[in-house]
Amino acid sequence: MFHFLILPRVIPPLKVDDLASLRILLRGDKVRAEKVIRGLHEDAKVLRKEIEDEMLKRYGWKWDIWCGFHAAPSMQHLHLHVLSADLVSEKMKNKKHYNSFHPKVGFFLDVNEVLSWFSAESSYFTSMAKLDPKPYEALLKEALSCWHCDSEMKNMPTLKAHLQEEWDHQATREKARLERKRKLEAKRATKEDTPEPEAKKLKRDDIGETDAS
Ligand SMILES: [Zn+2]
Ligand SMILES: [Zn+2]
Repeated sequence: MFHFLILPRVIPPLKVDDLASLRILLRGDKVRAEKVIRGLHEDAKVLRKEIEDEMLKRYGWKWDIWCGFHAAPSMQHLHLHVLSADLVSEKMKNKKHYNSFHPKVGFFLDVNEVLSWFSAESSYFTSMAKLDPKPYEALLKEALSCWHCDSEMKNMPTLKAHLQEEWDHQATREKARLERKRKLEAKRATKEDTPEPEAKKLKRDDIGETDAS
């Protein structure tokens, strides 16, 4: 699993205290808060590209990357998590740790979701921005489940083995898809070497590129 944290620079008039957490940032000036989050999002996009390159180099395929905040963070100072969508890691300690990144539990707030609060009605913004830690912390106690298929998992070792399997399957599928695509492109390239009168029909090959899996 790839996992990075992006921290905002403290540019005046912002003070370190204003950036203690998402909750505190959102309690301050709304325009300023949005600017900080958009800045983090931009940095995350650059980092995402770097992670994707590394995925291709190391594993020969790339998969999703999540960018988001913990609703009730344990670490002070605002930070955006950027992590590969697999949650396969030796360092995944326990249920709480896992649930904090589980995309369906609700503790992990996707950065796009947080940004959407700013354009929503102000009453909605106010209620979301509250980020009362209590109900969020309760989410971490939810039963262990696979984030891919929702199956309940007995314990961490079972979960880890299952997530590894999910990732392996995904890798096999995706590599097969890439291979089909490569072959198709090679075939098309040879066709293009010897132009046929019906050259226009070649466009139809594009249909074959959609993933049927
Ligand atoms: Zn965190
Ligand atoms: Zn599963």
